[in-house]
Amino acid sequence: MNRIACKFGGTSLADAAQMRKVKAIVEADARRQIIVPSAPGKRTKEDPKVTDLLYLCHEMAEMHADLTGPFGMLRQRFVEIEAELGLAVGIADAIDAFLGQVRAGCSRDHAASRGEYFSGLLLAAFLGAEFVDPHDHIIISSTGRVDPITYQRLGQRLVEDRRYVIPGFYGRGPNGDVKTFSRGGSDISGAIVARAAGAELYENWTDVSGLLMADPRIIDSPRPMAEVTYREIRELSYMGATVLHDEAILPVREIGTPICIKNTNRPDHPGTRIVARLSEEEDKGTEIAGIAGKQGFSMICVEKSLMNAEVGFAFRLLGIFQRRGISIEHCPSSIDGINVIVEQKYLGDAAPEVIEEIRRMLDPDSVTLVPDLALVAVVGEGMIHSVGIAAKVFAALRDAGVNVRVINQGASEVNIIVGVHPDDFQRALRSIYAAFVA
Ligand code: ASP
Repeated sequence: MNRIACKFGGTSLADAAQMRKVKAIVEADARRQIIVPSAPGKRTKEDPKVTDLLYLCHEMAEMHADLTGPFGMLRQRFVEIEAELGLAVGIADAIDAFLGQVRAGCSRDHAASRGEYFSGLLLAAFLGAEFVDPHDHIIISSTGRVDPITYQRLGQRLVEDRRYVIPGFYGRGPNGDVKTFSRGGSDISGAIVARAAGAELYENWTDVSGLLMADPRIIDSPRPMAEVTYREIRELSYMGATVLHDEAILPVREIGTPICIKNTNRPDHPGTRIVARLSEEEDKGTEIAGIAGKQGFSMICVEKSLMNAEVGFAFRLLGIFQRRGISIEHCPSSIDGINVIVEQKYLGDAAPEVIEEIRRMLDPDSVTLVPDLALVAVVGEGMIHSVGIAAKVFAALRDAGVNVRVINQGASEVNIIVGVHPDDFQRALRSIYAAFVA
């Protein structure tokens, strides 16, 4: 069976008109059998996302506040879609039952998951597809990652040659309760379902025509990418490229299923293909895949002479972060120094205590904190084989007057990361982009 798994994002399902576009897309290719919807997103800039309304309802219920406002908006959105599409799913009753659940103290994840659930009920009826509840089949571990047993179990549920709708964003946690992925997690669900169903392609339908080489809010009309590798996209989306959730690549990457990012509003546009290896004939016309950047890091710089000869120094240093549950993002080092880069939000107010502990346990020559650091990543598979990429990056930064605080090249050699002061962030991105894209 040649099947395609299609995930539709929130704006693709925001109202009845968008749902009609989704139906036309699905019916245009008989292989589009596995459909994963998000909750309805924004119809206009000011419009609330359904998932945000659900979180709000839950929060207000916990405070015993009056839910009438957000709940009414939520109800109206689904009831309108049902009526405009001429469906009779009984969505109003289902949503009223949910109000009872939220008032009775259902979990936050359960409340948040209902956006995808109701959206899935409507879409399944509209497409004449079978509804499959991910709560019964997608197992999510306590760390928020999919349990691999899911692939087999869900695969067995999706064996028939017919169309299925499986809501995104949630599954079942270790205790059997509804558990969601992190925000934007329907992309992860789409990848899991594509893998479980043995789909030949994972189409991720959104409101942009594929991925751009850089953030259009910073770079004017950046070039679109026709093809990009899993490794490149993983680096770019981790570093802030926002179209795809940064954990959504892994389930399909492990088995080599290609992903295609497509635009529901321009279905004929080829979009961006994400693949294991770039096709030979694909000429990007530039040596890099893209540039991305992320703010909100802190860096702790530890120096000690002859550190390289002290067995266990790095182990003890990193242990200090581990015991405090602080995840480490990057760890560039030199002979007598290590820098530990962490997200500010995880270090929080603990920085003085961490520094004190480093002093006590490691007796370094110096420990300093760079509280605000922005990272810029230049990403491209071609980097390993091309001479002069780093020279181009640093020349661009020099010419733009940007002071580089730290440099890191990942072991995969698919990126060069530079840390700069947040005030230099946009200038750094623009100057590097201009150096590589004529
Ligand atoms: N509805 C969820 C969110 O807004 C998940 C998703 O749309 O991917 O985060």
